[in-house]
Amino acid sequence: MSDQAFVTLATNDNYAKGAMVLGQSLRNHSTTRKLVVLIGPHVAEPCRDALHSVFDEVIMVDVMDSCDAANLALMKRPDLGVTITKLHCWTLVQYSKCVFMDADTLVLSNIDELFEREELSAAPDPGWPDCFNSGVFVFRPSKETHEELLKFCAEKGSFDGGDQGVLNSYFNTWATADISKHLPFIYNLSSIAIYSYLPAFKQYGHDAKVVHFLGKVKPWNYSYDAQRGEVRGHSVSPDPCQMHPNYLLQWWQLYAASVLPLMQKAYGDAPFSSGFVDQSSPAELHQDVREQHQFPPPPSQRVSSEERKQRWEAGQIDYLGDDSFSNIEQKLNSFLK
Ligand code: UDP
Ligand code: MN
Repeated sequence: MSDQAFVTLATNDNYAKGAMVLGQSLRNHSTTRKLVVLIGPHVAEPCRDALHSVFDEVIMVDVMDSCDAANLALMKRPDLGVTITKLHCWTLVQYSKCVFMDADTLVLSNIDELFEREELSAAPDPGWPDCFNSGVFVFRPSKETHEELLKFCAEKGSFDGGDQGVLNSYFNTWATADISKHLPFIYNLSSIAIYSYLPAFKQYGHDAKVVHFLGKVKPWNYSYDAQRGEVRGHSVSPDPCQMHPNYLLQWWQLYAASVLPLMQKAYGDAPFSSGFVDQSSPAELHQDVREQHQFPPPPSQRVSSEERKQRWEAGQIDYLGDDSFSNIEQKLNSFLK
């Protein structure tokens, strides 16, 4: 099994936190495979030290290093920077097979069976199910494939501006050729899909093996009240949160229990953004002030059922408050009965 690995990517300290939570979640569910993280040069030194405690390999990917023709052409496309970095996972030829996982995913049970699948296996994207979502995929490292992907990227770009567009165009028979390459949705449960098809989530959600916090707002944009064990409002406004509060809480519990101690050890006395609300460094105080103005609405702003309906229809959904999953579930149950 030592020639198979789970691979993730972090180009900055925030995604590095996500990577550590992911890595730790894989360890907690007793994976027998190696754990590899690709990092960019902007990940801070202490953060790299902390990554070393979770991952077997921490590999620096500096895209400016390489100077072959495809790379030179791509350097004129700074918008594709992270995408090119992600494609570097194909260079890990010391492994025969790998599973790539976004740093914003969380593993809920052992998923080593994914290594029985072939390249390129992935789950459907909730927004366009004939495309696969590139947050979780099985691949075979190969210098040749890597070169081809870079060339493809340089010549054709990406129809969505990211790696998912490039990979779907390159592996363009995924939707039609071989059903065994369609991973069940439970291996990449996008938080966004929970609310778009709630009865299905109610029916199948308990089988979920991987949660993907897809979208602009990530778990680390929230803060955590360790004393009360509660996740507090996020600092990336105005988009409302589309996450299931229980998964968000699980992410933070894992972060608090296993990742924060590693960060504290690595940083020593040096300050860093822990994400905890009770540690009031100036940056976090500032964040708290912003949050008070944005999210969540104070209880005094309780609104009528009709008003809530109008807000929901206008896309202003109070995911952690009135429109929380448990409230919707209660309503749904009353209808079903
Ligand atoms: N990523 C990164 N730095 C960035 C953006 C993305 O390292 O600034 C990596 C990270 O592994 C992340 C993946 O690329 O999970 C894909 O980006 P993201 O998860 O933000 O996209 P989404 O899943 O929301 O479409
Ligand atoms: Mn993602």
